[in-house]
Amino acid sequence: MACFDCFSQSSLESLLTLINEILDFSKIEAGCLALELVNFDLRDNAAETLKLLMPGAKEKGLTLIPEIAASVPQFVRGDPHRLRQIILNLMGNAIKFTPRGSVTLRVQVDPDSGDCVKLHFAVQDTGIGIPPDKQRVIFERFSQADNSVARKFGGTGLGLAISAKLAEMMGGQIWVESEVGQGSTFHFTVRLETGR
Ligand code: ADP
Repeated sequence: MACFDCFSQSSLESLLTLINEILDFSKIEAGCLALELVNFDLRDNAAETLKLLMPGAKEKGLTLIPEIAASVPQFVRGDPHRLRQIILNLMGNAIKFTPRGSVTLRVQVDPDSGDCVKLHFAVQDTGIGIPPDKQRVIFERFSQADNSVARKFGGTGLGLAISAKLAEMMGGQIWVESEVGQGSTFHFTVRLETGR
């Protein structure tokens, strides 16, 4: 029988993340990943997500900064868990690859035609940055910016591929701007109905 007392909290969390990422990725490959459509409070969702990340950021002495524009609606209709999954992945990475400084979550409304609201999220860090030739490949499955990343920081290289697919399923896209040694800003957009 497995002795869970032998594992640290962080290694159990890593194992759980790994299992969930592999499951999600299999669902995507099989075309079986479905999105929920419910009303939810976007500001609450963002606040709870930041709360989950706070201990990891605090441990590294990083400041987490939320900047949600006043024009962002409070209630929207969509999949709160999958939206949170993208933010958690991007902010988790930002914390992982930032030795000092801050991680900012920005949310604003982008102009769009139609009945939906187009939300633009940006996760900006002051971390190690990503070389230009890696900025595209990191969105492919199982890819990391260099071969020492898995050894140094752990991870599977699946998180961004899953996030890209989720953003696409929500009618948006994902991209990165980065400079080595200066930090990275991961952007993604989603189209959601305004909720009640
Ligand atoms: P994982 O984090 O499990 O390795 P991801 O798909 O989430 O997988 O990320 C892929 C790779 O992209 C990471 O291994 C890292 O090399 C690079 N990366 C992602 N986010 C950042 C960031 N904020 N700063 C620097 N590198 C990053």
